Amino acid sequence: MEDYKSSKYERKEHGAFIVDGVQVGTTLQCPHCGGHFLSVVGSGARRGFCMNCMAVTCGHPDCDRCIPIEKKMDMIEKRFRLGDV
Ligand SMILES: [Zn+2]
Ligand SMILES: [Zn+2]
Repeated sequence: MEDYKSSKYERKEHGAFIVDGVQVGTTLQCPHCGGHFLSVVGSGARRGFCMNCMAVTCGHPDCDRCIPIEKKMDMIEKRFRLGDV
């Protein structure tokens, strides 16, 4: 048994979603929650777009506002630092 064939498409296809050798969409990363989601070409799925990050968001209501994941980390960090001062 050779699992080469099945692993062929499992290789990290960053940015491409391929079905039967045809690219049907792209995988994108939400700049706000860091979650990956599938954007299917011509699906008409409503996604958010953040002009600040210049990136498509996952469409989750929590991701409508621009809170980049780096900023979230920063806020958590600051909260810790408050106890420091
Ligand atoms: Zn998101
Ligand atoms: Zn943003």
